[in-house]
Amino acid sequence: MSEARFRIEHGAIPEPVRRVCSTLHKAGFGAWIVGGCVRDLLLGRPISDWDVCSSATPEQVQKLFRKVIPTGIQHGTVTVVLDGVHYEVTTLRGEGAYSDGRRPDSVFYVDDVREDLARRDFTVNAIAYDVTRDEFIDPFDGRDDLRAKVVRAVGDGNERFREDGLRVLRAARFSATLEFALDDATRDAIRPNLPTFRKVSRERVRDEWMKTMKARRPSRAFSVMNETGILDELCPELAASSRLRVPGFNGSLFELSLAVMDAIEPGDAVLRLAALLHAIGDKSVERFAKGNKFSNDERERLVHLTRSASEFPMDRTVADAALRRWLRGATRGAVSELATLMRAKAAVLGDGDGIATLEALLERVDEIVVRRDPIDARELAVNGEDLQRSLGIAPSKQMGQLLAWALQEVLDDPSRNERETLLAMIRARAESA
Ligand code: ATP
Ligand code: MG
Repeated sequence: MSEARFRIEHGAIPEPVRRVCSTLHKAGFGAWIVGGCVRDLLLGRPISDWDVCSSATPEQVQKLFRKVIPTGIQHGTVTVVLDGVHYEVTTLRGEGAYSDGRRPDSVFYVDDVREDLARRDFTVNAIAYDVTRDEFIDPFDGRDDLRAKVVRAVGDGNERFREDGLRVLRAARFSATLEFALDDATRDAIRPNLPTFRKVSRERVRDEWMKTMKARRPSRAFSVMNETGILDELCPELAASSRLRVPGFNGSLFELSLAVMDAIEPGDAVLRLAALLHAIGDKSVERFAKGNKFSNDERERLVHLTRSASEFPMDRTVADAALRRWLRGATRGAVSELATLMRAKAAVLGDGDGIATLEALLERVDEIVVRRDPIDARELAVNGEDLQRSLGIAPSKQMGQLLAWALQEVLDDPSRNERETLLAMIRARAESA
């Protein structure tokens, strides 16, 4: 990478960010942009949020700007609102001991920006940039690691990971999102600190999983997680799949799942996660989603996607009835994402016959959808009221069973979905029972 890229162009920093920094400067305080935004500026990646650190206390910041929201005063953070955009300004902090591996016992303000940088997780996240003076504060040589494309803990990885167990997962995540290697010593420090990782709240873990899915190729993070033991903690079934071979595929079942996930475009994190988990079975998927505090909606979608994908009747000779039965479980609304998932898998397996079979079957599913073949009891040409009025069947368990039976008949042959035909069939069935 050329040196030129390791300068920050004046124009790369939005005017309001410069205004926040220069206002703090003029009032006699130090002010730097810091963390992810400096890293991403230097890498030429899109910036998600602009974080400013300053020697000013929250109270002092509040006096300098018209609109300030006290978002996290107890941690030294306030949000300055300029032109409707939010900028977090955090007072320089040191951190006390972490006795629980989750949060520091005390946070205190410090004067030296270097002390604030020293409590950060990775060198590439521990660079501060003084916008007003065009000056980097980079005591841990984060820029060298950006050039070398390495994720390296600030100082001693063992200590960093003992302080906050989430950092081991962040290490895996950044190696995927930045497409960086993980420094050897940093990697070696992960396994001994898994007991601390176990104490981390599942909500924080879930957020890291979702952020990982935004990487172009999330697989890098999961390979790191598998090699270091993190994956055994989070999803033992997935870790175990690295010991299963797949006939006709050059790699383990785990590697197949990684490749399918990577083959799906970022954007729909849950769909990519379903691709990752599709082979472990819906019971395990459910346990994983519950254990890791995914929302109910996310969990249901994950279970539904993995189950429906595994139930697809991948057989060219299958009858339309089987495709309708599959569609009944899969639902029409989910066909396109299931198709994405199954196509990704077929492509990774690289088996021409499999791809052709899948495409032929998906086309037939499309026709079933376009024809609106009934696949649900609500789509039958008769309902409970019809059974009561025309056949004298009172609402009962029997009525439910008759309608369910009628649906099976219509799934076999949609031409039976006519009111008179169905009433006659149901009458005969009720009498013979
Ligand atoms: P992104 O926003 O792209 O996920 P980021 O680097 O901005 O990446 P954030 O979680 O937003 O990550 O945190 C902002 C900064 O705060 C980081 O760059 C890092 O310096 C510091 N930081 C965040 N979480 C931790 C942590 N668990 N331990 C130490 N430092 C942290
Ligand atoms: Mg950030």
